[in-house]
Amino acid sequence: MLLFFKEFLFNIVIISSPFVMYPYLHRFREKVALYRAFLLLLCSMAIMATMSFPVNLNGLNYDFRSVPLVIGSLYGGWAVALVLYGTVIIGRYITGMPEVLLYVFAIMPTYVITWFAIKYFEVSSLLGRMIIAVLACALIKLITFTLFLASLDELQKFAIKPLETIVTYLLQSLIVAIGVYLIEFLRRYNRIQDEVVKTEKMKLVSEIAASVAHEIRNPLTAVRGFIHLLGTTELTAEKKEQYKGICFAELDRAEHIISDYLSLARTDPDHVEEINLNAELGYMSNLLLNYANFNNIQLNVAFDEERRLVTMGDKHKFRQALLNIGKNAIEAMPDGGELALASEKQGDAVVIRISDTGVGMTAEQVKRLGTPYYSTKDKGTGLGTMVSFNIIKKMGGTIHIHSELNKGTTFTIRFSSNST
Ligand code: ADP
Ligand code: MG
Repeated sequence: MLLFFKEFLFNIVIISSPFVMYPYLHRFREKVALYRAFLLLLCSMAIMATMSFPVNLNGLNYDFRSVPLVIGSLYGGWAVALVLYGTVIIGRYITGMPEVLLYVFAIMPTYVITWFAIKYFEVSSLLGRMIIAVLACALIKLITFTLFLASLDELQKFAIKPLETIVTYLLQSLIVAIGVYLIEFLRRYNRIQDEVVKTEKMKLVSEIAASVAHEIRNPLTAVRGFIHLLGTTELTAEKKEQYKGICFAELDRAEHIISDYLSLARTDPDHVEEINLNAELGYMSNLLLNYANFNNIQLNVAFDEERRLVTMGDKHKFRQALLNIGKNAIEAMPDGGELALASEKQGDAVVIRISDTGVGMTAEQVKRLGTPYYSTKDKGTGLGTMVSFNIIKKMGGTIHIHSELNKGTTFTIRFSSNST
């Protein structure tokens, strides 16, 4: 009995291993084909592994193949399910178990159960999902075994060690229920994180709106004045051309601000691409210029224009990350000051620096940065830096903060690889 548990324990470890990979799997959630392929790979590996180390019980091999089979099917859909069924059959063939054809005949009817389980799983609550998974798992195993033994005329094998058989089913149910619970828990956790990123973005968008509106009014006022001038008759052709030129330039500027702003407000799905850091800093300074002017702050930029500074990531998220940090910097200078944006290359790494001459932070406060709900502002949420840090970390970047009380703060963001 002890050996039986030891072997089962080993099997449980094998089929739990895919859960470790779940955070990676979650990254593909929007690219359905990739998500399914990765899920399929994980579950197939688990199936192969558990079938390679079965527990022998009264002449029958027991393993937990139905756990990854069911979990992969429920989360991957009918096509993934079909391939997983194929994996089980191939696994049986490879591991040299007898009567492969009979086994195909015994297991394939259970695909109907899986198909219905997938259908109801989608619309069920957490408890419902756990129950569906447990039932599907037990039924697949029971029906397959019954059909298999019946066709060999060995049904009596079922009754030899009833206690162990029941324990096997209970263990399997427990594992699959815990598995579904864990996946649902992680999904929910990730969903909440995504929500926070979105809500924070909407907050950013609405906070910048006032300064953007203000900035658009300036070119409009200028254009209005020049149109007025153009209406007067005593203008030379040369002057007319000049005024027209100014009008177009001002309108282009307004259009630029609007499209920059709209691109910030957009919520596209994740799209990883090459990001030109100087272009992004330029974008950031355009949007923040108005916010800075509003607060009597001078904006200085020092980009390394000579070299190509690039990294990989989602452009819109990266903008959000930079704008959050830049906005905090401006808000740290209520009596005006200087906001400096710089970029440079350090060996293989590309570096962005955002510095302010504001109130600064104590070492204790710096340590709390990036933790949720830490805010010293009346209307602050304390989520901005957390969101920024998450985005930058996901891109493989590091953040270093240097701050001195009443002198200012410098954020140094570094991306080491992917640069050319
Ligand atoms: P919020 O801006 O809503 O308060 P954040 O997460 O963006 O939330 O920032 C958390 C806190 O970190 C701020 O309330 C502020 O006290 C501090 N902080 C962030 N950036 C700076 C900075 N550049 N200078 C001084 N304090 C800062
Ligand atoms: Mg903030």
